[in-house]
Amino acid sequence: MTSQVCARCDARTGKPVLVGHVHSASAGGRTLYSCPEHALTFPRPIDPVAQIDALRRARKEETAS
Ligand SMILES: [Zn+2]
Repeated sequence: MTSQVCARCDARTGKPVLVGHVHSASAGGRTLYSCPEHALTFPRPIDPVAQIDALRRARKEETAS
């Protein structure tokens, strides 16, 4: 794996940890990496499928009540 810049401290790391994605209309999305020391300071990556399921469930409960 190539070195990446840590999204937290801007230092290059040879052991980048994937911590998330940034979506932007112009760039089309960017992957965020962190050095191992700062990886724990990022929230857990959100599973898009799980999120959609949760949204669907929430909507269903809204209409049911
Ligand atoms: Zn860092």
